[in-house]
Amino acid sequence: MSGDTTALHLDGIPPDTLSKVEKYLQPFQLSPETLQEVSARLRKDLLRGLGKHSHHKAPVKMLPTFVRATPDGTEKGDFLALDLGGTNFRVLHVRVEEEAQKVLKMDSQICAIPQEMMLGTGEQLFDHIATCLGDFLESHNLKGQTLPLGFTFSFPCEQLEIDKSILIRWTKGFNCSGVEGKDVVQLLKEAIHRRGDYHIGSVAMVNDTVGTMMSCGYKDQSCEIGMIIGTGTNACYMEEIKNVKRIEGEDGRMCINTEWGGFGDDGCLDDILTEFDVEVDKTSINPGVHIFEKMISGMYLGEIVRLVLVKMTKDKLLFKGQISEALGTCGLFETKFISEIEEPDSGLENAKKILTELGLDWSLVDASVVRLVCDTISSRSAYLCAAALATLVNRIRNNRKLGHLKTTVGVDGTVYRKHPTKLQKAVRLLAPQCDITFLVSEDGSGKGAAMVTAVAQRLAHQSRL
Ligand code: BGC
Ligand code: MG
Repeated sequence: MSGDTTALHLDGIPPDTLSKVEKYLQPFQLSPETLQEVSARLRKDLLRGLGKHSHHKAPVKMLPTFVRATPDGTEKGDFLALDLGGTNFRVLHVRVEEEAQKVLKMDSQICAIPQEMMLGTGEQLFDHIATCLGDFLESHNLKGQTLPLGFTFSFPCEQLEIDKSILIRWTKGFNCSGVEGKDVVQLLKEAIHRRGDYHIGSVAMVNDTVGTMMSCGYKDQSCEIGMIIGTGTNACYMEEIKNVKRIEGEDGRMCINTEWGGFGDDGCLDDILTEFDVEVDKTSINPGVHIFEKMISGMYLGEIVRLVLVKMTKDKLLFKGQISEALGTCGLFETKFISEIEEPDSGLENAKKILTELGLDWSLVDASVVRLVCDTISSRSAYLCAAALATLVNRIRNNRKLGHLKTTVGVDGTVYRKHPTKLQKAVRLLAPQCDITFLVSEDGSGKGAAMVTAVAQRLAHQSRL
């Protein structure tokens, strides 16, 4: 499928240049049949991840989250939330109001995590988190209270209980030593204990996809999927417990964190990878893993575009064959440039400005070609996500033996927010029997974590009655 806005970007590209450019972009263009095929492969991988004996080796991990219910509207109370693993680390104070059916963010604070800390020791990282939380409690007069805490930790974790969660691996540029294989809740508690100046209540561990689903679920109780397309990409959905073979029990549902970013880690997407994807993977800090994520998410899209532009320039198709220092430097073509360059009205102007800032000697044709490259890469991202989402909605529909499924997807992440329509159109094409509403989550990773904690409390309370 090629993007709907492509026509706009062809302006002023001479036909012979265009046909050369298209040779570079062709490997990024996935036909509807290929997307169906991608969706079918993921369908098989979901089963491998759910299976009792196959899950250990499954590239798509299908992690149980111990979230067994979406909100029913009776949840309430005050909560703390931590959000680690998106663009920023944040601490929040959240109130869930039953009467108004509202989740209110009372206060929040962003706390920078310096690059060195992302690559330092786990102890440094958790001490920093505990300090940020302590400062927040202090400055908001919450130190005397013992509030329950929802911890949005947006990395793949093997969750053993709602408050026991073992980090499988870091992703998205984090790589702190001594955390993989450990219980993250324990590490947080130890860091708080080392300080000894405040206490927290019960803890619920939450993936950001789950938080996103749950924060939308208070508004729309048919929200049973959460999806993130931001720095990383992932989705969760409500699965029948009888299909989750490593969890006891036959009745009811549990939210499964698919970790679909790992799709392709066994090589099953090699036939659609381009040379540029292979290069991005090789130079990343975690080569060989999260292959699907590296074709889709914000951490990598800019770099894919950069590599394509570098190759075209080397082949003398762009910038009179001159690569500037910035264009030649890994990471300097930022993902946010893509959406700026693609903007329907001001895109061409933005492109010129960005190319100038990158120190390039551009022509008008160059600027149009760059727009076409950006459109192609972001369209592929949207279509691949659509294929994956289609797999999930079709699975839910089959699980429930429905001819037609009406469902809501809670979504977040800047890459989605910038390009919602391509994904929506494509998923409707790939899952024609599903009627999908998309709800952009307002702060899923913050409010959602509080909601998970609130639902866990409601269920615990009900089971004591
Ligand atoms: C992580 C997921 C997370 C996603 C979106 C991925 O890199 O593995 O756990 O949900 O990013 O933040
Ligand atoms: Mg987030």
